[in-house]
Amino acid sequence: MAKDTIRFPRVGIHVSAAGGVDLAPARAREIGCEGFQIFSSSPRQWRQSALDPARAKAMLAHRKEWSLGPLAIHCSYLINLAAADAVIQQRSRMALRGELERARALEAEFLVLHPGVVGGQSESEAGADAASPAAPAGERAAAVQRLLEGIAAAAQGFDWGPVNLLIENTAGGSRLAGDFRELRQILDGLAGLPAAACLDTCHCWVAGYDWSTPERYAQFMQTLEHDLGGKRVRLWHANDTQSGLASRLDRHWHIGEGKLGDAAFRSLLQDPRWSQTAFLAETPVDAPGDEARNVAALKRLRTTA
Ligand SMILES: [Zn+2]
Ligand SMILES: [Zn+2]
Repeated sequence: MAKDTIRFPRVGIHVSAAGGVDLAPARAREIGCEGFQIFSSSPRQWRQSALDPARAKAMLAHRKEWSLGPLAIHCSYLINLAAADAVIQQRSRMALRGELERARALEAEFLVLHPGVVGGQSESEAGADAASPAAPAGERAAAVQRLLEGIAAAAQGFDWGPVNLLIENTAGGSRLAGDFRELRQILDGLAGLPAAACLDTCHCWVAGYDWSTPERYAQFMQTLEHDLGGKRVRLWHANDTQSGLASRLDRHWHIGEGKLGDAAFRSLLQDPRWSQTAFLAETPVDAPGDEARNVAALKRLRTTA
């Protein structure tokens, strides 16, 4: 492994697996990724595509050849294991099982799951782009319970191999785990499974966590340590945002060009406690070269003052 991967976090971005998963590593490499994320099936369809074993094998070979890692797979946006609706719940469990099986076949280190929406049908139907209202504590507790039961059911008898299930923090409101304490509660309920946290910088900010100055960063880290535990964070989603602090509006933006700006990413990327934790962007692709530019921005911000 190169020397800089010891001192600095590995960086990358979500890349397309269109045409087959075996095509993703070359795309990742071309835009400068060290690690990367993909969807292993269409994220907006319940119907999941089967993984071709030959393509899975080819993908693994390319990753090894080019030392690309970690590999994160992001679950379908339709999955809502916390849904009160029995049909959505059952579909979500089956979909998560499929995600787990494909993650295993691809030897992915991380499978990233959104914890779900209180009472919503699926996250997209609940309006992932809208600021969602807060839900009463009793409803939240019941939703967390359904989520935990759903994960347990989906993972029954599953041979995890290298796969870790990462529960992602959210923009908050009716979505579970906008608050680190709720994320911790979920992870506590998954004790015994290889489960940890993925933190998204945009979601942190719009959920109300502010680290825009060095003093606030120190405070943010204290809160994170106290309410969640830094050791539980295995992956960062690096996204800037144009949404306001505590706005609950989940809109990703180009690294360094939003409300977070360069300083917020420098604080994280240059903090030794995250030097072994990858930062993968999920920024918009509005123009050719946007992916490479965002990866380059992360590389710049991990080393420059
Ligand atoms: Zn994310
Ligand atoms: Zn988001």
